[in-house]
Amino acid sequence: MREFLKRSWATIDLDAIGRNIAAVRARLAPGCRLMAVVKADAYGHGDRFVATAMARAGVDWFGVSNIDEAVSLRRHGICHPTLIFGPTPVQMAGLLSRYNITQMIPSLEYARSLQEIAQASEDVLEVHIKLDTGMSRLGFLAYGEDLNRSLDEIGEIAKMPNLSITGTFTHFAVADEDDPESVAFTKLQFQRFQEALSQLEERGIPTGIRHCCNSAGVINYPEMHLDMVRPGVILYGLSPSADCQGRMPLSPAMSLYSTLTLVKTVAAGTTLSYGRIFTAPHKMRVGTVSIGYADGFERNLSGKAKVLIRGKFAPVIGRVCMDQLMVDLTDIPDAQELDLVTVVGQDGENAISFDDFAAQSDTVNYEKICLVGKRVPRVYRKGGMDIGVAEYLKKDFDL
Ligand SMILES: *Cc1c(COP(=O)(O)O)cnc(C)c1O
Repeated sequence: MREFLKRSWATIDLDAIGRNIAAVRARLAPGCRLMAVVKADAYGHGDRFVATAMARAGVDWFGVSNIDEAVSLRRHGICHPTLIFGPTPVQMAGLLSRYNITQMIPSLEYARSLQEIAQASEDVLEVHIKLDTGMSRLGFLAYGEDLNRSLDEIGEIAKMPNLSITGTFTHFAVADEDDPESVAFTKLQFQRFQEALSQLEERGIPTGIRHCCNSAGVINYPEMHLDMVRPGVILYGLSPSADCQGRMPLSPAMSLYSTLTLVKTVAAGTTLSYGRIFTAPHKMRVGTVSIGYADGFERNLSGKAKVLIRGKFAPVIGRVCMDQLMVDLTDIPDAQELDLVTVVGQDGENAISFDDFAAQSDTVNYEKICLVGKRVPRVYRKGGMDIGVAEYLKKDFDL
């Protein structure tokens, strides 16, 4: 057993990711491209092994949030077309051409500065135009009285000799929600997108690859898939929302484990952990587990969450600490030091999902997978074997 297995670690099932990609592909019309979104270090799963597995599973593009994430893919040997969803500082534009990365364009001003830099270095940069159809986050306002000005501006960009428009996209705000207002809003966003696209075409401005669907769009709106889809969370086997639950087969890729480091019996009246918020009501068996908020087990779960030990639920009692927490072992008399603790995953008949883990802290599964701490090693499984480990605390280097 490796040393880190005595503390906390995550396992990432790469076969599950392969199945999720196949399940997405099965929903796409022939010719529709699949961009795998691997921002935020592949949603906390670790970009190197995950993106490599996705590339092998046949995705067409990768989507990331920033230039560092894009360059990281290249350093891991991933040469697929890659789109950055946010603006890259123009001082770093050299990296776009050096690594052949596609940049999103949110405004004419940004396009101008990028054009200037690209001209100076005699590069031609591939760009995708971002249209704002109602998310109101980034992009050219593509509806109402702003539409015409936006079309004029995009027309100007189309003439820039060192920028080449190879795609146009927008992003949905509520594609994951079933209530009539959300469905109507998603349809409105799509209608605005299509209207803007057809006006661009009328003006002879290239739109390139047209794309708008996130995971929820892939699931709920097949008629909106267009030339490419951009799923993220479903590739990791998680549902984008409660409404989307059960609509497509998903295999969760990540499990989170820890270790029972101490088992002891405390007397009635003993208080546990910081703040003394828990007092033993009677003589009881208590366990200490080597996971805490620095590992992604949030402090606000104190007294709320449960973990699994020997297939049974053990309630977390007292305050969650930075590195450790304590559990009530009353119902698990056979629990022993060094027992496996399942924080998220299957243990015997019982399981805790990232949805359960998220519900306890009143947030979404997306946030919980991103919060798995950087000192938690990720162990990659394929064909029932461990094939690699990502250990972030070994990554520092001198400049
Ligand atoms: C994060 C993101 C996605 C993927 O969203 P999911 O809900 O995880 O599928 C797609 N497109 C853009 C622009 C994003 O930022």
